[in-house]
Amino acid sequence: MLRPVAGTIKENGRNPDHRVDQRPERHYGRHIPHGVSFRLHSVIRMRSLLSPLRVVFLLPLSFVACTPATPAPKAASGAASPAAGPVVPTDELHWLRDSAEYRAITIQTYRVALEAAAQASAGRPAGSWAIAVDADETIIDNSTYEVELQRQGLVHTDAAWKAWVKRGERVAVPGAAAFLTGVQKLGGRVAVVTNTVQSLCPDVAANLRALSLPYDLLVCRAENGEDRKESRWKSIADGTARPDLGPAEILVWVGDNIQDFPDQSQALRSQPESAFGDFGVRFFALPNPIYGTWEKNPPR
Ligand SMILES: [Mg+2]
Repeated sequence: MLRPVAGTIKENGRNPDHRVDQRPERHYGRHIPHGVSFRLHSVIRMRSLLSPLRVVFLLPLSFVACTPATPAPKAASGAASPAAGPVVPTDELHWLRDSAEYRAITIQTYRVALEAAAQASAGRPAGSWAIAVDADETIIDNSTYEVELQRQGLVHTDAAWKAWVKRGERVAVPGAAAFLTGVQKLGGRVAVVTNTVQSLCPDVAANLRALSLPYDLLVCRAENGEDRKESRWKSIADGTARPDLGPAEILVWVGDNIQDFPDQSQALRSQPESAFGDFGVRFFALPNPIYGTWEKNPPR
């Protein structure tokens, strides 16, 4: 189990600036609008308490739990006591971990991505081209981290994330291993480009090896470096990322965040379908309902 780790709980229990976050994306955990994080954690706990026999007696408390004055969740720096009972995971976490649909989506996406790589690389010399994948929630599944946080009523912190990564217990996203292996068989380079900071890069590498997820390049984010990945993709294309391998043109991208694709951002969501022309052709997006840059988009 994840132990409470000393860390700074920031805005809404999440780090408001993902650029100083140890994790690749802005926030970890479900979307929490400003000012309601305490309510969410209270509601999560309430869900675990609401057995049929308790509903009548606890219903008034649910209204209390939905007020901003509800006590804060346990800070990661404090001693956490065990939850009162089984904590039901949030719907999106439940879906990601326990649905057939999630597995079907990731497997089908990777199958189509491999077909796209084969088609795009036809006639190209081995080693002259590459695919770029993100790491977290693209080829590596961190949902257990979120489960442990929810069970203990804790929230994401940089320190907790670092401790989680160093445990090396992350599992592979379904379909990822077949895709990466298939790309290498086609003669392509596998480039993992992650916003995990450089200091944790050896831990990421060890986890990838443990999962038998093959790769040729692992490009992490420099300490305090930008979260955009364009410059790192460029370093793969021009050969500076790994000079011993030489230049490799990236033909296919896979990621769970819109910023895992060149020149893309959340602004794309307001564009017509024609603006999504690269998706399913050379861009392949995986679902991440747990966290991402989408969290800051105002609900419609
Ligand atoms: Mg990711």
